[in-house]
Amino acid sequence: MAIHVKCGTLFTGNEDLERSRQTLVVDAGGRLAYVGPTDSAPPAAPGDEVLDYADLFVMPGLHDVHTHLAYGNAKTEEDIDLYQPMEFRALRAMFFAQKCLAAGYTSICAPGDAGQISLSVRNAINFGLFDGPRVTASGRYLTTRQGLTDWYPTWIGVPDTSIGRLVTSRDESIEEIRVQVKNGVDCIKVALDGVQRRPDGELIAAFDQEEIDAIVREAHRLGRKVVVHARGREATLYAARAGVDLIFHAYYLDQECIDAMLESGSTIGPTLTFPRNIVDFTRPTEPAFLKGRIGDVQREYETACDNLRKARRAGIPMMTGTDSGFAVTPYGEWHAREIEIFVNDLGFTPAQALRAATQVTAGFMAKGASLGVLEPGRAADFIAVAGSPLKNVALLQDKTRIRHVHLAGKRMELPDRPYDPREVTDLAWTNWNDLYTQSRVAELGILPERKTCAVSP
Ligand SMILES: [Zn+2]
Repeated sequence: MAIHVKCGTLFTGNEDLERSRQTLVVDAGGRLAYVGPTDSAPPAAPGDEVLDYADLFVMPGLHDVHTHLAYGNAKTEEDIDLYQPMEFRALRAMFFAQKCLAAGYTSICAPGDAGQISLSVRNAINFGLFDGPRVTASGRYLTTRQGLTDWYPTWIGVPDTSIGRLVTSRDESIEEIRVQVKNGVDCIKVALDGVQRRPDGELIAAFDQEEIDAIVREAHRLGRKVVVHARGREATLYAARAGVDLIFHAYYLDQECIDAMLESGSTIGPTLTFPRNIVDFTRPTEPAFLKGRIGDVQREYETACDNLRKARRAGIPMMTGTDSGFAVTPYGEWHAREIEIFVNDLGFTPAQALRAATQVTAGFMAKGASLGVLEPGRAADFIAVAGSPLKNVALLQDKTRIRHVHLAGKRMELPDRPYDPREVTDLAWTNWNDLYTQSRVAELGILPERKTCAVSP
C-alpha cells in the first residue's frame, strides 16, 4: 500500500525554492517513489492512502546533530553522570527522544553518552519496539586528565556511569574505539578541549596532535566517523588537521584552522543555541549568573559568530545542533532555534538554513545518504508545517505549527505527555543557590520582624 501526500507547498531540501501543487508518493517500504507535480503523479491505486496537506508546507524532517540523550535535562555535571541507574536513564532517553521527534526532528545524533544508552534507544526504535527519531549513536567521550568530562578531582576519577572514558595512553584510546565499535556505535566522540589555558587565555588541547591523528585513523579504519568538542583554537586546529568529520563549536577558529578544514574536509556544528539560551534565559538567582558566567558567554558568543561567519564564507559546511539535554536546552523545545540563529547571526538565507538542518546535517548521520532530501529513493521522513518557514524560520519553534511528522512514511502519533522534572531530572543534592550571611540577608531584606525577648530587670 502506497501513501500519496498532496502538498500545498513543497520544499525538497535539494533546492532553495518552494514549489506548489506537488505530490509525494511513499512506497510500502517507507521510501519515496515519486516527488513532483501533482498533475504528473501516478494515480492512487485502490487501497492506497491519500493525505491532503493542501494547506501545509511539506519539507524534510529536521536534523539535530547535537542532542545528548543521556543527560536528562541536567542542571549539573553530577546530574549527567551519577544519579539514577543506567536502566532508568535509557528509558528516560527514549521518552525524551520522542519529544525531539514530536518537535519535527526525525534524525538526531547523540554525541557522547553514558554506557550504551543512545545505541540502545536507536536499536529499540529500529527494531520497531517504539516510535522515535532515527538516532546516530556514540558511546562515552574519549577524554584525558586534561579533558572535558574528567570533571571530578583525581581522588574520585571518572566513574563508570560517567559520559567520559578516561584514556591514559594512545593504546587505551585505540582499545576504547575498538570496544565501542564492537558495541555498535555509529561515531566516536572525543573531548578535545582541555581545561588549562596559556597566559594569553587560549585553551590548551586535551590530546596532542599525534594522539588525535591516531584516534581518527583507527575510527576511520573501522568505518566510523569522529566528532569532537573543541571550542578553543588549538583543539579546533588539531581536529581539522586530523580530519575529524565534525567539530562542535570551533568558536576561536582562525585562518589556519579554516585552511586545515578545507584541506581535510572537516565540518562545523556551531551549536550556538546553547550559549544563546544561557545568555537569554539565565536569571540572576541561578548559579551560572552568580558565578559571573553570563558576560563571558555573551562575549564568547559574539567572537564565535564573527569567526564562524569567516568559516562559512570560506565554504566550510555547517550542521545544526543544540546541545539539547541541559536544563537550559530541554529536549523537544529549542532545536529549531539553531536555524533562526544561522539566519540572524551567521548570515544564512532561510533556504540555506533549512538545507543546513536537513540535507547538510544528514551528511553526518548514520545512513545519511538516504535522509535529508525529499527525492525518489530516499526515506520518506518529512514534516507538514502550518505557514512557510522560508518566510519565517522562527515558526519551526512553534510546536503547534508542526502539524504532522512522518517517519519512513508513517504518521507519528506522539502524545505530549507531561512529566514532573523533580522526579525525572532534578536529582542533585543542591538545596541553595545563595549564601545567607547576615549581610546578604540584610541586603535581601528577608529577615522577618521578631518580637525581642523580654529581659527581666
Ligand atoms: Zn555537547
